Amino acid sequence: METTTMPNWLKQRAYMTPERIALETAEESLTFLELHQEVLGRAGALGSLGIQKGDHIAILMGNSAEMVKIIHAVFYCGATAVLLNTRLTEEEWEYQFLDSRAKLIIASPEYYDRVPVNENKKLSLMDAVRLLQKPAVYEEEYDLNQTAVIMYTSGTTGKPKGVMQTFGNHYWSAVGSALNLGLHTEDKWLAAVPLFHISGLSILFRSVIYGMTVSLHERFDAETINQSIIHNKTSIISVVSTMLDGMLENLKERSYPKTFRCMLLGGGPAPASLLNQCKEKDIPVVQTYGMTETSSQFATLSMEDSLRKSGSAGKPLFPCQIKIVKESGAAAEINEPGEIMVKGPNVMKGYWNRQEATARALKKGWLHTGDIGRMDEDGFLYVLDRRSDLIISGGENIYPAEIESVLMEHPLVKEAGVTAVPDEKWGQVPYAFVVASENLTANELLHFSAKKLAKYKVPNGITFVSQLPRNASRKLQRHVLKGMMQ
Ligand code: ATP
Ligand code: MG
Repeated sequence: METTTMPNWLKQRAYMTPERIALETAEESLTFLELHQEVLGRAGALGSLGIQKGDHIAILMGNSAEMVKIIHAVFYCGATAVLLNTRLTEEEWEYQFLDSRAKLIIASPEYYDRVPVNENKKLSLMDAVRLLQKPAVYEEEYDLNQTAVIMYTSGTTGKPKGVMQTFGNHYWSAVGSALNLGLHTEDKWLAAVPLFHISGLSILFRSVIYGMTVSLHERFDAETINQSIIHNKTSIISVVSTMLDGMLENLKERSYPKTFRCMLLGGGPAPASLLNQCKEKDIPVVQTYGMTETSSQFATLSMEDSLRKSGSAGKPLFPCQIKIVKESGAAAEINEPGEIMVKGPNVMKGYWNRQEATARALKKGWLHTGDIGRMDEDGFLYVLDRRSDLIISGGENIYPAEIESVLMEHPLVKEAGVTAVPDEKWGQVPYAFVVASENLTANELLHFSAKKLAKYKVPNGITFVSQLPRNASRKLQRHVLKGMMQ
């Protein structure tokens, strides 16, 4: 018999471990049973507004217990949640609302008035809560092939695309993560990354699937988070490198207790200097590679390999496969760079309403990630850069991320972004934009990088700037750097 359905996850969890804490925030703490009951009220409210199975419901909220309840309520109605990034502009919200064909947008008070959508398609949270009622019917089972969430990519390389993540994708993502990191009864996963991103949302799914507490933070504050790890029994946290940077700076002479077992670092390349600091402080950092299209982590570097394989994103999760393919379509040799292709049950169904983009990305079950990487002799993945950011100089391939990482090793450099500029002799050469903390000269920094980089990789020039162009996810937009040269 083919298994395509499972019991409603939160309901099942409330049945199995009703008294266990599901969610902790600064204001409240909820058991799984309490969460289920709160969700029922909201599902009833949505049902009374005519929300039905198959509808798309946009959610525009910051991390909060209310957001968790609304997300589950949408699933209880059999609808698909379209999670909008709160840092986008009004036009971008409108685009994603229309593009996703959402029937309704649920927005929290701080965003409600700014949503450029017809009043009868907007629902304020206050109204949703005012309408609380028990639903007549709600989903008893989840269909693993159903799109649970449409989540837009970060838009680092172009216009964001709506990724269709199914319940099955999320189930396998949670299982793959547990098979790798293990499950401890006392686990508490801290979420300060946004729930509208896959890094945050995946924590909610793990919570109901594992029966694990989520410690939910409204925003990232280094001191509060360090306190939570030191005093509040946090065992795992998901971070991106800028967060980890801030946490280390704030930590100073203190150290993390043994109860803290995993600093899951993802979202982008990890600068070597950061990993070295973690090593010195004995911080259990687990590097990961993943994308919206893979419903969270796809490969991770386990603690036992972190010293030996520093800088690697590790090996695929158990249900997953990775191959490196050259431009010609042939498999790359050991350590030879090529496009990273991935296959597994956590890979998206496709891009919403983008048949061509889906056909280009998904071929015979393999997702063409658009990232370049290499696989070493032991099968460890190294992510080099995005294919679209590759610099080709005199026939040599240059990865901007490598140069950025070297520049950031300089103690006075805060941030660095590298892009290609046209060059008569070499075709293209790398050029750097740098945010530095004090009086650092371009000459000094060039001299520093010349000691660490092959000659053709040393930036052709450096411009100091006060900030680098970043998207709403704080990711560096290198194509904007190009424009800054003119
Ligand atoms: P868009 O697809 O719209 O351009 P995006 O790719 O930034 O945006 P996400 O899905 O949020 O959207 O990010 C996934 C990408 O982040 C990966 O494809 C990869 O380029 C980068 N990334 C993630 N983890 C790592 C890592 N460990 N090392 C290097 N790059 C990483
Ligand atoms: Mg992408």
